[in-house]
Amino acid sequence: MLIDIHTHVQQFNNEDIEILINNSRKNNVKIIIAAGTTISDSQNSVNLSTKYDEIYAAVGIHPQNILDENTNKYIEKLTEMAKHKKTIMISEIGLDFQENSPEKKIQKEFFYEQIILAKKLNLPVAFHVRNAEKEAIDLLKSSKINELRSVAHYFSGNYDYAKKLIENNIYISVAKPFLRDEILSDVIKKIPIEQLVIETDSYPQYFKKNRLRWTEPKDLVLIVEKLANLKKVKSQFIIDKIEQNSKYVLNI
Ligand SMILES: [Zn+2]
Repeated sequence: MLIDIHTHVQQFNNEDIEILINNSRKNNVKIIIAAGTTISDSQNSVNLSTKYDEIYAAVGIHPQNILDENTNKYIEKLTEMAKHKKTIMISEIGLDFQENSPEKKIQKEFFYEQIILAKKLNLPVAFHVRNAEKEAIDLLKSSKINELRSVAHYFSGNYDYAKKLIENNIYISVAKPFLRDEILSDVIKKIPIEQLVIETDSYPQYFKKNRLRWTEPKDLVLIVEKLANLKKVKSQFIIDKIEQNSKYVLNI
């Protein structure tokens, strides 16, 4: 089976989610993690997870959304949602230092506190890092992330960064960009298959007029094919390994 370890499928409308689930079923995608980005979006993930067997929820506040809502008592709110039987991860959390982002200090506080929450609840973490690799590694080390099961989502770094992630017991999640990016694909080729999981980061792409071009969990098939090509092994070998890795990370 295929497992999409990071998406935002809760952001699709009802009609589109039906299409997406049908496409997923046809392509053997059996588990889809719907990661929240705010308190209300996390609640939507939990709600959607009760409607479809294959959807599981992740709850968390994305670094870009820290100031979007009243985040007063956010740890209590996340804790409550994390106790739902279909919540199996803390995500999407992290650091994003691109221009016009929330203050670095606040981002670090939210990231740290949500990692500590994951530890308290014994849930795995999937995190986002953009323009903040050094700061992220420092924070991950100081929060002893190696004691948790965790995933660097949408990996797009260099091999040095990949090595630092692996040293800290972090799984590396591969998404679609390496299908076209040769530099990235050379890096991913060097990462041991034992350390990889896969994702689509699917969200509704209303800016793409052709609905068929939207990224959906079914696109995991393309990622598997490319990994099989890079590693010069059969697709089924990749599927089995990734399934094993993902189940270990998710503790299922
Ligand atoms: Zn995401």
